[in-house]
Amino acid sequence: MQLSQRMATAKSVSFITMGCAKNEVDTSRMRSHLLKAGYSVSEDPEAADAVIVNTCSFIQAATEESIEAILEVADFDSVRSGRAHLVVSGCMPARYGDELASEITEAGAFVPCSKEDDIVAVMDGLFGLDRAELGYLDAASGVVLDPAPVSSYVKISDGCNRFCSFCSIPYIRGRYRSFEYGEIEAQVDDLVRRGSREIVLIAQDTGRWGDDFEEPRTLAQLVSDLADRFPDIWLRLMYIQPEGVTDELIEAIASHDNVCDYFDIPFQHVNPRLLKLMRRKGSIGEFDRLVQRIRARIPDAALRTTFIAGFPGETEEEFEELLDYVSECDLDYIGVFPYSREEGTHAFELPGQIDEDEKHDRAQRLRELADAVCSARISSRVGSRRRVLVCGEEEDGQVFGRAMCQAPDVDGVTYLDEGNPGDVVEALIEETLLYEMEGSVSPCNDAQ
Ligand code: SF4
Repeated sequence: MQLSQRMATAKSVSFITMGCAKNEVDTSRMRSHLLKAGYSVSEDPEAADAVIVNTCSFIQAATEESIEAILEVADFDSVRSGRAHLVVSGCMPARYGDELASEITEAGAFVPCSKEDDIVAVMDGLFGLDRAELGYLDAASGVVLDPAPVSSYVKISDGCNRFCSFCSIPYIRGRYRSFEYGEIEAQVDDLVRRGSREIVLIAQDTGRWGDDFEEPRTLAQLVSDLADRFPDIWLRLMYIQPEGVTDELIEAIASHDNVCDYFDIPFQHVNPRLLKLMRRKGSIGEFDRLVQRIRARIPDAALRTTFIAGFPGETEEEFEELLDYVSECDLDYIGVFPYSREEGTHAFELPGQIDEDEKHDRAQRLRELADAVCSARISSRVGSRRRVLVCGEEEDGQVFGRAMCQAPDVDGVTYLDEGNPGDVVEALIEETLLYEMEGSVSPCNDAQ
């Protein structure tokens, strides 16, 4: 029997992915394992033989959304009739363990983050398939994988050692571990071959990459090596903690044309007392010096941060200190989140928990101010010429892409008068609206 015949399991699996880009990457890895093992992947969960809900439980709201998705799948005719299996993977099984199995009895299996690479064995078990009989497709057998999106995420490490007092990630994802350069390069290579033109490198703590190797390496070395290896591909870094923004990294970004001049650095607050309670470092002075250090080398760099409003014990004065900072800051994008009280974290036990309405009210005030400050900054880009990676068309045919200053999913897009997906065009920015830009494609040599 030929391998391709032995491989055919005739079973289809569909994914529903909740949460952030890191979960998208995990889904994509499970998907790839299953395809190589002969499963097909269906875009229609109600028609599939199994549905994997890859959950997020970073904060309470995300857990609730994941539970809703699980219950919705549990209610599919296919699942209720026993024709299809429901599988729950990702952060929820990692965070709640056995407790989850007694709560969600409809699920046939639970696959925590640390076991996602065993997904084929789990699915084979559910379907009663014998892998020794079926075999796997290896690279040489020419499996045709789907085209990859114009922009793809690649995870460079997992876990986190920082234990910020509000965050459940170290308990869910475990200790920090960097992935080997070869593994990352192979993933980038695969995505590029399948059509990706931008690779976004992500992790919980990107700046720490390589410091846990026997022979330590740095994020600057990783990004330089990848930039040289893939000169026609945009590279972008997300989630660099302030301590990770070294001069070496700034230089690596500045000196490579294909690395986006973009820094995503979560500050979370500016008041030193609250930052200490968050088990983080920093102050207005330190953050200002960090921004100046970046701008001294890359004046037009785009800077993004995130802030938490309503952390336990945050006084009105401390919150106003944050508002004052935002009103004067030199940042392009600011994400705002109301504090979420997560069981099992240190901050859960802190005195001075703030009323839900008050937290949301502070977050809204901060968001409105951030929108006003950042959109004014973005409007100053009118008249500049920028390289834009064409991403696709809206339903009405409007072409859109993203400039180097716009990260996928969070910063808005640039609307264009023409362009083909995957091409990099040079556009004159003619208008902005809040976070969106509009430009016309025009040849120019000094586009940023
Ligand atoms: S650095 Fe990020 S992932 Fe790590 S504990 Fe802090 S908030 Fe959580």
